[in-house]
Amino acid sequence: MNLARFPRIRLGHLPTPLEPMENLSRHLGGPGGGPRLWIKRDDATGLSTGGNKTRKLEFLMAEALAQQADTVITQGATQSNHARQTAAAAAKLGLACHILLEDRTGDHSPAYAQSGNVLLDKLHGASIARRPGGADMQAEMEALAAELRAKGKRPYVIPGGGSNPVGALGYVNAALELVNQAAEMGLRIDHVVHATGSAGTQAGLVAGLVALNSGIPVLGIGVRAPREKQEANVLALAQRTAEHLGLPGIVKAEHVVANCDYVGQGYGIPTEGMVEAVKLLAEKEGILLDPVYSGKGMAGLIDLIGKGRFGKDENVVFLHTGGAVGLFGYPDAFGVAQD
Ligand SMILES: *Cc1c(COP(=O)(O)O)cnc(C)c1O
Repeated sequence: MNLARFPRIRLGHLPTPLEPMENLSRHLGGPGGGPRLWIKRDDATGLSTGGNKTRKLEFLMAEALAQQADTVITQGATQSNHARQTAAAAAKLGLACHILLEDRTGDHSPAYAQSGNVLLDKLHGASIARRPGGADMQAEMEALAAELRAKGKRPYVIPGGGSNPVGALGYVNAALELVNQAAEMGLRIDHVVHATGSAGTQAGLVAGLVALNSGIPVLGIGVRAPREKQEANVLALAQRTAEHLGLPGIVKAEHVVANCDYVGQGYGIPTEGMVEAVKLLAEKEGILLDPVYSGKGMAGLIDLIGKGRFGKDENVVFLHTGGAVGLFGYPDAFGVAQD
C-alpha cells in the first residue's frame, strides 16, 4: 500500500493524539473492571475546529486542484460538519465554495438554522443555499455545477460527507497512522468503535486495516440508516476504496459491522443516550462530543460495554470524529436554558 501515489494536500494537524480515558474506563468498568477505553482525537485535526472530514478533504481538495477547479460544491444537513470543514479548506486554498444545506431534521430554531456550523460556513466565506428535506441532493449539486459551468466557472463536486474512494483514502491513511501509533506505544488494539454516517470513514478504516493485515475489527455505530443498508453502503465503498488502492478483493462482508440501534427517532434528532454520553464525557474526561454523531456513537459504546460486548482488559479505541461545534445548534437538548 503506497498512499504517496495519490495527490494530497496537508490540511490537518496529524497525527492526532491517541489518549487513554482512565476516568471513563473506571466509571464504566465498575468494581469488577472492564475494557480499557482509549480515544483517537480526530476532533483535533485543527481545520476550523477539526473533525473527520479534514482527512478526506486532504485527498479530495488535491484532486480538485489537479483538475484546475476554481470552485467546490458540496452538500449536507443544516448542521453539517463536512460543509464547515470544506468551506474552511476552500478558503485556505483560494477556491470559491457553494454549500447546499438540506433541511433534514425540520428544526427551524435560530440556534439550529444559524448558529454552530452554519455560522462558521459563513465566516469562511461560503455561499449557502437551502433545500427541503428529502431533496435529491446529488442532483441539486449537479444542477448547480451545470449553472456555474455555463458562467465559465470550473466547479468540483464533493459528495455528501466527502464519501467516495478518493475521500476514503483519508481514513486509509488514518488506519496506517493508528497502527503505527499503537505499535510505538506498545498498545494492542482489540476494537475500534466510531459513529458511521455517509460511510467514508468506516470504509477507509476497514480498507486500510485489512490492507495492513492488522486483525483489528471496526464497529460502526449508525446515526441514520438501518443496519442492513448501512453495512451494504460501507461494504460497497470499502471495496471500491480497496480497488482504488490497487488491492481489489481484499475487503469481505465479514469485515464490515454496524450497529444501528442508537439512531433514535432519526438523523440529527437527540436521544436520551446521546445527551447522557455528551454530559458524561464532558464531566469525566473534559472532552466535547457532538449531538449528531459522536454523542450517539459513544451512547452505543457505553450501552454495549454494559451488555458485555467487550472483554475485561480489552483495549477499545473510540475514534472521536469531531462535531462539537454542532452543540451550539442544540442548546435545548442539554437543558442549559433552565438555570
Ligand atoms: C461526518 C461525520 C461522521 C460520520 O462519518 P462518515 O464518513 O460520514 O460515515 C461522524 N462524526 C462526525 C462528527 C461527522 O461530522
